[in-house]
Amino acid sequence: MNLLCSECSVELSKFEIQLNELYPVGKLYCEFCQTKHERQIIKQIADDEADMHNDYTRELIGDKK
Ligand SMILES: [Zn+2]
Repeated sequence: MNLLCSECSVELSKFEIQLNELYPVGKLYCEFCQTKHERQIIKQIADDEADMHNDYTRELIGDKK
C-alpha cells in the first residue's frame, strides 16, 4: 500500500512516512509540504504569542495608570 501526500499526492518515501509517524499532524505530508505546514504552524504560534504579549503588556501599563 502506497501512502500519498494529502496536499500534492506525491508518493511518500519510507523516510517521509517515518517523519509523519514521529510528528503526526493528522494528515500525511511529503517532506516539502510538511516543511511548508510547519512554517505556517510556527508563524501561527509566533503570532499568538505576540498577541498574548501585547495583552499582558497592555494590562501592566493599565495597572500603573
Ligand atoms: Zn506534498
